[in-house]
Amino acid sequence: MSTLNKTYPSVAVRVALLKKLKTQIKKQEKEICEALAKDLGKPTFESMLTETQFVLAELRHTIKHLRGWAVPKRIPGSMLNFPAKEYIYQHPYGRVLIFAPWNYPFQLTLAPLIGAVAAGNSVVLKPSEMAPNTGAVIKDILTKVFDIKFVTVIEGGPLLAKELLKQQWDYIFYTGSTAIGKEIYQAAAKNLTPVTLELGGKSPCIVHESASLKVAAKRIAWGKFVNTGQTCVAPDFVLVHESVKQQFTQYLISAIKDLYGENPEENTDYGKIINKKHFQRLIGYLEGTKISHGGTSNETSLYIAPTVVDNPSLQSAVMSEEIFGPILPIISYTYEKDLDTILKKYEHSLALYVFANNKEFTNAIIENYAFGGGCINDTLVHLVNNQLPFGGIGNSGIGKYHGKYSFDTFSHSKAIVKRSKLENPLRYAPYKKKTKLIKLLYRFIN
Ligand code: NAD
Repeated sequence: MSTLNKTYPSVAVRVALLKKLKTQIKKQEKEICEALAKDLGKPTFESMLTETQFVLAELRHTIKHLRGWAVPKRIPGSMLNFPAKEYIYQHPYGRVLIFAPWNYPFQLTLAPLIGAVAAGNSVVLKPSEMAPNTGAVIKDILTKVFDIKFVTVIEGGPLLAKELLKQQWDYIFYTGSTAIGKEIYQAAAKNLTPVTLELGGKSPCIVHESASLKVAAKRIAWGKFVNTGQTCVAPDFVLVHESVKQQFTQYLISAIKDLYGENPEENTDYGKIINKKHFQRLIGYLEGTKISHGGTSNETSLYIAPTVVDNPSLQSAVMSEEIFGPILPIISYTYEKDLDTILKKYEHSLALYVFANNKEFTNAIIENYAFGGGCINDTLVHLVNNQLPFGGIGNSGIGKYHGKYSFDTFSHSKAIVKRSKLENPLRYAPYKKKTKLIKLLYRFIN
């Protein structure tokens, strides 16, 4: 038996820790939901749907499959290495730094943590300072579950984040804005630290003339106004065919009323904006626009009504920046070439949604445009299945996670060839007439 020190926790230890985490989250679920209500006015149902139960599902899936993911995989051997056994070993990176945002402050902190721990890394985690109540519960839970040397929660804002970035890490996982994501990438580059950047952007939602308009309106209203529009994959704006725009807008307004009633301010199923800064940013977007629905607000309670904006200019602020709030611009298009021009005006988005009953059209959108992920005839739900990768492309991010993708993200795949003393003379000089043989062997290499 080797006397070398064990640097990383065994798979059995990791499974035990994840089970302990699951139990603790279940015990404190009510507290988590209360914290989310304080930070974001989240209704308990939404907190469970998008935060606590989501995380518990991720934990169950990881606990169930971790042994299978972590076991060294034997792969078919190469003729050139014969006789040998060839493997891929999954190795923890080491010390991982995780920065989380405020909009789904529990889910977006815990989901990457699960992957990092499952892969055997130690973690320093910084929840968002803008959701302090949730941050405090996260710290309480993780302190109860993990040894502080293995998982450490540090609370603080950008100053602390910058200090942390001065240290050397083996992996950095960041969720937040594209602007800060670029700073993270630069800081990581100094030490060649690998990163996952889960960023944002303007996610388009296309409504084709063939779409089932009532269904489209309901699903878009839900995807846009859940969490008061503060969702990284929320439809940012709708591009609707001119011929169905009026009908679609009417259905959309009805759907909003069905979801939140005539006065959403008094509806406990509708949340609030995270803080004054974001409130003012969002109100600023409404200046000079034509509002088809909503538009009312209350700075004291940080309330902004679900708002529909009619055909704003593509140069306006609301069509230039990621909205990240309950404002939905509706832009009409007549020809597909106009649609193409608008889509190509923007950086690659984190999500894209298409409502259409026309396979040729939906396939053309999927195949011709780069975006993180999306849905045909729905919004947001591509996040639900933890066997689907989640992540952006270009300006909306680097890397992917959820389920096994998280485990892979936080693991280095190590190639190992195991040989015995049996010899294969091919590679050794004198080479003489081996040229033909090497060509042949490379042809049948695997
Ligand atoms: P943010 O970039 O302001 O903050 C995210 C994290 O970075 C926080 O922990 C914050 O403290 C830290 N931070 C802030 N300034 C920093 C700095 N200068 N250096 C290092 N770290 C710093 O983002 P946010 O406002 O919390 O989130 C909103 C954005 O995040 C939106 O663009 C949204 O689309 C995106 N987002 C993406 C995802 C995703 O999964 N891709 C999820 C949620 C939010």
